Amino acid sequence: MSKCFFEAVRYDEGIIVDPLVERLKNYVEVITFCPESEFGLGTPRLPIKIYQVKGEKILLQEKTGKNLTAEMKPFLIKYISTLPPLDGALLKSKSPSCGVGTAKLYKGEKLIGKTDGLFASLLKENNPYLPLEDEGRLRDKSLYYHFLTSIFLLARLKKEVLPSDLKSLFDFHAKAKYLLKTYNEELAKKMERILADKDLSAEEKFNVYQSLLKISLKKKPEKKRHVNTLYHLAGHFIRRISSKERRNLLNLIEKFKAGSLDLTVLLEVIKSLALRFEDHYILSQIYLEPFPLELRLP
Ligand code: SF4
Repeated sequence: MSKCFFEAVRYDEGIIVDPLVERLKNYVEVITFCPESEFGLGTPRLPIKIYQVKGEKILLQEKTGKNLTAEMKPFLIKYISTLPPLDGALLKSKSPSCGVGTAKLYKGEKLIGKTDGLFASLLKENNPYLPLEDEGRLRDKSLYYHFLTSIFLLARLKKEVLPSDLKSLFDFHAKAKYLLKTYNEELAKKMERILADKDLSAEEKFNVYQSLLKISLKKKPEKKRHVNTLYHLAGHFIRRISSKERRNLLNLIEKFKAGSLDLTVLLEVIKSLALRFEDHYILSQIYLEPFPLELRLP
């Protein structure tokens, strides 16, 4: 995470108190980093901006006219190479170093668009499948849900699966089934084929599986994929509930589809049905609770 969520390292010695970071920090192991202060620009420091010059993006300290790109880039690449495997990165929005598609891009005096900050772009280059966001983008509820789902699922794979223990990978896949099908049905099937491939060792299966998981988490699923999954989940109970309950359940899914009901409400309804009918398979599905309940948005 960007260090300025925790310490006064901003150019103006400010500190950013963000409610998401405040909640999230209690559930994840945090590594903090400030590309600008740790590069040696000091705090407080002169602000920097990204300029487009002859098709290239450069980081310029406006007041001194100093182009910092050539020196900062190798410093940041070296830092990134020292990082342990990450499950995600949450950076500060709009910063010319940390912004994820939210840093201002200038051409001369003119603002011509938004782009990645230098650190964010190098992090992306180094690990294209890393869940990477800035806190500004996560105000979008569906992006927030997707980001948390991704980081917790990747962490869970590492925590629950021993690469040499095939059974633990099978167990993980069984629990992740509905979630994976929601994200990318084709890749979910490919993962199943990898698990069944007799020519691969347990470790090889784990490595390919982990790569496919990262690829499938790259893109936020469209709402219709969630609707599809919700209908599948509802199908487990549809013959076991009264016609009034059935109508109500289908009505709720349609409301979610129309945008007037939150996904988490539907997940709670499905969970209650699974509890009532003691459906342990459905209860085990990560899709019902992909990250800690306390991190759900109100
Ligand atoms: S946004 Fe990034 S570069 Fe700026 S103060 Fe925060 S951590 Fe440092």
